[in-house]
Amino acid sequence: MSARETAPNCPYYFEDFHRGREVIGCRLIERNPNSLPWERKLCSHCPVPRILRETTSQAIALEAKVEKKFPWGKKITVFAVCTKHMLALADPLHCPRCEAEAAEEATSSRHERLHTA
Ligand SMILES: [Zn+2]
Repeated sequence: MSARETAPNCPYYFEDFHRGREVIGCRLIERNPNSLPWERKLCSHCPVPRILRETTSQAIALEAKVEKKFPWGKKITVFAVCTKHMLALADPLHCPRCEAEAAEEATSSRHERLHTA
């Protein structure tokens, strides 16, 4: 498999093909000392880009790890924290407290519109 296929749409992925070098990697995995080494093919099933696009947390911080998947292969597991609420997120796509705040804001701005109309 060539490393020069389409780059994953992910802020943690990096590649450098300058001057004959061919360096690719994942900054998120590389800063986790407890992870197995990153491999390019892991990106195709990595949940991180979708989490960054769709999470309701307003200040998400991610930690990712390559783990052995039973009975063979490897996968990326993600640990997510909402740094606004210092809350570990069971589902990285949702911070219940950010969602509650957003709902409250939506309600109060609707009220404001009604009063100024
Ligand atoms: Zn939150």
